[in-house]
Amino acid sequence: MPEDSREERCFTGIAVSPGIVRAKVQMKGVLLGEPESRRIVEAEVAPEKARLQQALVKTRGQIVEMRGKIEQVAGSESASIFDAHLLLLEDATVLGEVTKLLESELRNVDRIYYEVIERYLESLRRIEDPYLRERAVDIEDVAMRVLRNLSPDEHSEAEMVYEGVEGEFVLVAHDLTPSDTASIDRNHVLGFATEIGSSVSHTAIMARSLNIPAVVGLQTIRSSVETGDEVLLDGYNGLLIIRPSDETLASYEVLKAEKAVLLDDLKELRDQETETADGHQITLSANIEFAHEVSQVQKQGAEGVGLFRTEFFYANEKKLRSENAQTRQYVDVAAAVAPNAVIIRTVDLGGDKLMPGLIPEPEPNPFLGWRGIRVCLQEDDIFRPQLRAILRASARGKVGVMFPFICCVEEIRAAKVALQEEKQNLRDAGEPFDENIEVGAMIEIPSAALMADELAREVDFFSIGTNDLVQYTLAVDRVNDRVADLFRSANPAVLKLIKQVIEAAHRNGIWAGICGEMAGDLLMTPLMIGFGVDELSVGASQLLSVRRAISRLNVPECQDLVKEISGLSSAGEVEQCCRNLVMKKYPELMS
Ligand code: PEP
Ligand code: MG
Repeated sequence: MPEDSREERCFTGIAVSPGIVRAKVQMKGVLLGEPESRRIVEAEVAPEKARLQQALVKTRGQIVEMRGKIEQVAGSESASIFDAHLLLLEDATVLGEVTKLLESELRNVDRIYYEVIERYLESLRRIEDPYLRERAVDIEDVAMRVLRNLSPDEHSEAEMVYEGVEGEFVLVAHDLTPSDTASIDRNHVLGFATEIGSSVSHTAIMARSLNIPAVVGLQTIRSSVETGDEVLLDGYNGLLIIRPSDETLASYEVLKAEKAVLLDDLKELRDQETETADGHQITLSANIEFAHEVSQVQKQGAEGVGLFRTEFFYANEKKLRSENAQTRQYVDVAAAVAPNAVIIRTVDLGGDKLMPGLIPEPEPNPFLGWRGIRVCLQEDDIFRPQLRAILRASARGKVGVMFPFICCVEEIRAAKVALQEEKQNLRDAGEPFDENIEVGAMIEIPSAALMADELAREVDFFSIGTNDLVQYTLAVDRVNDRVADLFRSANPAVLKLIKQVIEAAHRNGIWAGICGEMAGDLLMTPLMIGFGVDELSVGASQLLSVRRAISRLNVPECQDLVKEISGLSSAGEVEQCCRNLVMKKYPELMS
């Protein structure tokens, strides 16, 4: 700990989910998944030992590789933690004990390894000394890897545990997966801060949906805080302030009060239509990840659900969800938003949303790999029950279906064939459904944007997924904070594609919406209106501010802005033009 350890220290990261919270820190720990205990015969002892050896070799390779990477970017001091991990991995006492028990108890090696590690962890967790307690985290880290390598299918997910701080806290972690975020216990976690991440990662999107204030990209924050430290997390400005001074706390009370006044003022828009100052209507719907979110978005005045990301169920589940269970959920959402529509997106697994068991081995380039519609078209067990569930729900409310990650016309055609087949199956079974259910394609890959005319002839609507469209147009990994500065929807290349897609949709008589995070970006609102977008689908917390922003704009001035930026060559110049307009129209929303 540095000498001034009791002084305030402020760390800047990326603001991903608004809100201000003050609480003690809880460092994220992991709970080892408990392998099942299985009897073995004596002849299996040698193969079990060999299995452990292989897992240790693989783990060693992973740790060495990680050490190399960290050394390159952060220097040898930061990388030295992995030397400690290597020592723990090869700890003779632990390995000796595992071998002895394996021979004497004749049980599977992963279970024995787990039990030996758990015993060590138990004794370390009881120790007061924070340094030794920290070692428990390292041991857990290493053991997790070994267990995953021993049986990759069973241990692809780590559960989070909260220990050490009673009550509510700010969770600090190196990273949180979307499934970690989905399983956050809101009774305890007031907000979270991570070392890596970006504002369009699914973790960030989830934090916004769940209204959890969050800051990511805080680099090496874990070396500066400890469980129990008092912090203030500022999700508006991307700050984590450790041991905030009285002065800082007082200034945050003022900021909180200002935000509360603004939120209160926006509430009056809840039951109003979404239209520009000159009366042009736009549908403002909401994005949800879980059925239970629908009541919250309804309270915020959403005009339906424009994107139901259905894959998050799989973030925590290893088994497929039954058709009936899916139907029930979709019917619930459809009923809640009636008479408005819910657009259900078929599962978009892959990329940063992995399903344990289905994609056990990490792919070399997950965002360019087996993702979205590609998974669905090959995995009937996932796709077909979901299509039937969506169709069955369409008999009970206004339901649309859309397919993610479409890169070519063949894919949308194949998806439609599957839908037709499932319609026929339901007809044969006498099950009612909406024969005219609207079918959409997500436009989130540049090839799809360039082929928008051809795709438009296949579907009833487009939903532009700008999170991926920006990622794939600019070759900028959406979850990597090191390239986050390049991730800009105002990049002229991205804007050209969006404009082109909306025009192609209208030329072919279909509507076009935007459901990526850009839809809620108030700096971009005038441009989206100028492009003629028909629908914007945003997170619950953005609904009312987008409605207010739209109400202050006139269509002609938005169209003029589109003309003005058409000759510009950089994101910075485009953003400046947009800023000039929005600061005149709704400055209070931009602070
Ligand atoms: C997008 O890509 O913009 C989108 C809405 O889908 P997701 O963020 O789930 O990839
Ligand atoms: Mg996407």
